[in-house]
Amino acid sequence: EPHGRLEPQSRLDPSELQTDRPHSARVYNYIIGGEDNFAPDRETAAEVLAGWPGLRTSMLANRACMRRMARYLTGLGLRQFVDVGSGIPTSPNLHEVVQTIAPDAKIVYVDNDPVVLAHARELLTSTAEGRTAYIQADMRDPEALLGDRVLHGLVDLGRPVALTVIAMLQFVADAQGLVEALVGPLASGSHVAVTVPTGDLAPESRRLAEQYTRSGIPMHLRDRAEVERLFTGLEILAPGVVPMPRWRPEPGVAPLPDTATNMYAAVARKP
Ligand code: SAH
Repeated sequence: EPHGRLEPQSRLDPSELQTDRPHSARVYNYIIGGEDNFAPDRETAAEVLAGWPGLRTSMLANRACMRRMARYLTGLGLRQFVDVGSGIPTSPNLHEVVQTIAPDAKIVYVDNDPVVLAHARELLTSTAEGRTAYIQADMRDPEALLGDRVLHGLVDLGRPVALTVIAMLQFVADAQGLVEALVGPLASGSHVAVTVPTGDLAPESRRLAEQYTRSGIPMHLRDRAEVERLFTGLEILAPGVVPMPRWRPEPGVAPLPDTATNMYAAVARKP
C-alpha cells in the first residue's frame, strides 16, 4: 500500500520513520511528484494545497532554482559542495547537476532527518572521478557538522566550498547566526546559496506557514531585509536577493510572476 522505496539495508527501525503521521519532507516529496510518501503525507498535502494551490508550482520552481544555482556555482569553478537540508532525493539531485559539468566534483549532503537517511543511497551515485557522501547531522550544531569525519574525507576546508541551503532556513529560528557559524570557518572564495520562504510575495502562502506551525513544525518566514542580513560580511552577487524565479532565469524563458512562489533566492561570496 505505501509506495515508498525504503532502503531494505537501512539500519533504521521502521517506527523511527513514523509513517503513521505526516512528515514535512514526505509531504514535499509527494507534492513535487515523488514516490516516497504515505497516506498521512498525502492527506496533509491535500490540506495545504487547499490553503494555497500555488505551493506545487513554488516547490517545483525551488527545485529548478537549485539546478540553476548548482550550474552557476560549478561554472564559477567550485568543485566542493556541502548541501545542508538535502531532503528526500529527487532526481536530478544536486550532485547530478554538478557532476554533469564537473565529473570530478565532490558533494556532501547533510540532513538531520532519519527519513532522508533511509533514502541516502540515491545520493551516493557519484561519477567515478568525483565523490558523494551523506551525513546525518543537525545544522544547528555547525561545529559538529563542519568537524564531521566523513565531510573531511571529501572536502578540504582550506579551499573554497559551495554551501547550499535550499528551502530549509524556514525551519530554523536564528538563520543569520547559523549562516554566520557555517560560513565563518570556510575559505575565502567560498559561496553560499539560499532559497528562503517569505510572506512578501504570495499572500496566500502565509496560511501555509501557520498550518505547518500548528501541526508541530514551526515555520519562519523572512522579509527581504532579513534575507539580506543573512549575508552580513559577504558579497551578494548579481542579481541580489530577488524573488526566486528572477534569480538568473534560463535564457529565453520568461520567469514566473513574483507572486507565483513564496521564496527569495540569493548567492553570496565570502571575500
Ligand atoms: N533542499 C531540498 C529539501 C528541502 S526540505 C530542496 O530544496 O528540494 C528541508 C529539509 O531540511 C528537510 O529534509 C529537513 O529534514 C531538513 N532540515 C530541517 N531542519 C534541519 C536541521 N536543523 N539540520 C539539518 N537538516 C534540517
